[in-house]
Amino acid sequence: MKGRFYAQLPDGNFLSVTVWPSKNTPNSDVIVTEIRKPLEKGWETVTRLAIFRTPEGRYVHLPERRKPTLIYCQKCNTKRLHTYAEGKWRCTVCHSFNE
Ligand SMILES: [Zn+2]
Repeated sequence: MKGRFYAQLPDGNFLSVTVWPSKNTPNSDVIVTEIRKPLEKGWETVTRLAIFRTPEGRYVHLPERRKPTLIYCQKCNTKRLHTYAEGKWRCTVCHSFNE
């Protein structure tokens, strides 16, 4: 984690902004903004917005995490299980990115 920032909202919830280094892309960040409700134990995430900063300095809204899915891998030349991260589907076998 590169940074975490909080502010309390008038309704008692918290707004947080967390900056993570990208796992898959060098020189890029994932900025996660959340509204979180404090519970007796831990937190409930009320809403979440993730933004990806590309190495070129562009900012894109990341769709929410998706479940691993079987899609066609160009490199494996067959359908493989892919995981979704930072706006891209990645093959779990050869680790290449596919649409
Ligand atoms: Zn593959």
